[in-house]
Amino acid sequence: MPEPRRSRGRSGWQGMPKVVIIGGGAGGIPAAGRAAECGAKVILLERNSVLGRKLRITGKGRGNVTNTAGLDEFIAAFGPNGKFLYGAFSRFSNQDLIGLLDRLGVPTKIERGGRVFPASDRAADVAAAFEAWLRGLGVDIRTGVRAQGLEWEDGGTGDAQSGARHPVSSIQHPVSRIAHHVSRITGVRVSSGVIPADAVVLATGGITYPRTGSTGDGYRMAAEVGHTIIPPAPSLSALEIKEPWVSDLQGLSLKNVSATLYAGGKKVGREFGEMLFTHFGVSGPIILTLSKTYAKLEDKAKVELSINLKPALSRKQLDERLIRDFTQARYFKNYLPELLPRTLIPVFMRLSDIPPDTPVNKITSVQRKRIIGLLLDFRLRVEGARAADEAIVTAGGVSIKEIDPRTMESKLVRGLYFAGEVIDIDAVTGGYNLQAAFSTGWVAGENTARGSGKAPS
Ligand SMILES: Cc1cc2nc3c(=O)[nH]c(=O)nc-3n(C[C@H](O)[C@H](O)[C@H](O)COP(=O)(O)OP(=O)(O)OC[C@H]3O[C@@H](n4cnc5c(N)ncnc54)[C@H](O)[C@@H]3O)c2cc1C
Repeated sequence: MPEPRRSRGRSGWQGMPKVVIIGGGAGGIPAAGRAAECGAKVILLERNSVLGRKLRITGKGRGNVTNTAGLDEFIAAFGPNGKFLYGAFSRFSNQDLIGLLDRLGVPTKIERGGRVFPASDRAADVAAAFEAWLRGLGVDIRTGVRAQGLEWEDGGTGDAQSGARHPVSSIQHPVSRIAHHVSRITGVRVSSGVIPADAVVLATGGITYPRTGSTGDGYRMAAEVGHTIIPPAPSLSALEIKEPWVSDLQGLSLKNVSATLYAGGKKVGREFGEMLFTHFGVSGPIILTLSKTYAKLEDKAKVELSINLKPALSRKQLDERLIRDFTQARYFKNYLPELLPRTLIPVFMRLSDIPPDTPVNKITSVQRKRIIGLLLDFRLRVEGARAADEAIVTAGGVSIKEIDPRTMESKLVRGLYFAGEVIDIDAVTGGYNLQAAFSTGWVAGENTARGSGKAPS
């Protein structure tokens, strides 16, 4: 990372580029900080009363801020659009983030699967440290302020125009673009008037978890100036399960299990790791990852999830173990805690159809096969995915074809930059989504301060 330039000279803000960042989340915060470090006068607009409301609840409040994976793995986690992030991840990598957090007084730790968390297990510490960083750099943080639209200069005439004077392409019809010639962004409209700007970063997030402030405002603003919006859709959702007894398992967390998704009897996906039962169904890392496959299924009528509770054992090994164990004089109900977590036992006993007081040495080979069947193929019927208000990330967004991956500047409108989930990028779980927001924010902030100097194509 190059050394930051001065944050404020003796002559105050005069002559410095004025940058407005819309959205104080994981994308907007580093954009603001880096732009200020590079010498810009920065105003950060956040509609909530606090910065980073979503950031504070990430990773169940623990904040899985990044992953130790290598660059190729990072790119792969984002699927086909991952290559767009190559430049941003190279410029501000997972190690750069870990280093920055360390400097800001938030040491991190690494957990299973390379997931990186603050050592304190508190995502709120990350948000607080970032905020102190911004304040130290003189960023003008304006919370409780919702940006209403962009101001721009018309390409044909050089006249200043306002977003309000143009018809707005609603995000219900997001792929249509407005044919007018926006050449350069000149400011941001808020309820009290217009904030002039040399550059604006749109970091408004997606449409998921809207109670944290991400309601899709950025898509409308980007569409107003001619950008293509790939229809936004929830991605990484928990799955609702049809079996009514699933709510009895609420809170049960299973580690080192494998989950296979079947559609119409055909295997469509498999993941190994950790999952969680909720009052409506299943969630946790491997379920969220499988939900991406589920979302793409054309026919969702007959979808089932098969949980292998003993993936390290083959059917034969499991049978041998049970035969050995079933020589003891114990009741079935007293033996099961050796095999299963306690919460699962009542449901498991019901499904096995074996009376709890059966001595294990009286269990027949047919019953033993049924136990093995349940252990290796614990079936759940999928009802559907949880709605957008509970999904973790948004798929779709501002088309990556219209953003310069080296600078995050719009290829259509000079002075407009993008950061975070508003861009058409989304990954599996593991800390990749936050790192993408941090990296794109960093790059956008740095370049707003420098100015790309290029005319839009
Ligand atoms: C429950 C949950 C857990 C998650 N856990 C993880 C995890 O552990 N690891 C991980 O990598 N990812 C996780 N994610 C995903 C991650 O949080 C997002 O990908 C990331 O926050 C995106 O950052 P962003 O800045 O683009 O959007 P956001 O964080 O949503 O920030 C956008 C900000 O813009 C503000 N805003 C919107 N419109 C306006 C406007 N018009 N004017 C002013 N401000 C506006 C919003 O209020 C919001 O604060 C999780 C998501 C959820 C919902």
